Amino acid sequence: MRIFGLVQDSIVDGPGFRFSCFVQGCPHNCPGCHNPESHDPAGGREMTVEEVAAELLKNPMTDGLTLSGGEPFAQAADCLRLAQTAHAHGLNVWSYSGWTFEHLRDHGSGEQKALLQELDVLVDGPFLLAERTLRLPWRGSGNQRVIDVQASLRAGEAVTIPDGC
Ligand code: SF4
Repeated sequence: MRIFGLVQDSIVDGPGFRFSCFVQGCPHNCPGCHNPESHDPAGGREMTVEEVAAELLKNPMTDGLTLSGGEPFAQAADCLRLAQTAHAHGLNVWSYSGWTFEHLRDHGSGEQKALLQELDVLVDGPFLLAERTLRLPWRGSGNQRVIDVQASLRAGEAVTIPDGC
């Protein structure tokens, strides 16, 4: 998989101490994106899922995995394997996506739907500069939602988590 960066002990990409995997490559081109150097799918560096998983699992303080980017759902198959590894080791899994929950659920590829179904939490939607905020936890703009994925799949509609907690 192509990787933009890996961060241990992140406290800004979800609750607790998190291993944040920033994938390389994003098709959304949101104006004002905070990580424009992550857009080129040929950029970053190549790592195997096993190499990323080894980094994920080497820190016993880690509470969860956050998939960010870049666009994790553009590398859904590899991100799914990483998410499954995290769950197998008792870690929760959050992911960001520039696509909405409804788009991924209804129009995603088989691999994208499988990744969605594996998640605990999805922070969805593109970054909208006009709705930029520093006030909301885990989100860069007010349109983005912190979604309880498993509850949402059961309910048939997006179930948000108040204040991301
Ligand atoms: S989805 Fe995220 S990484 Fe991609 S352009 Fe939008 S803000 Fe940037």
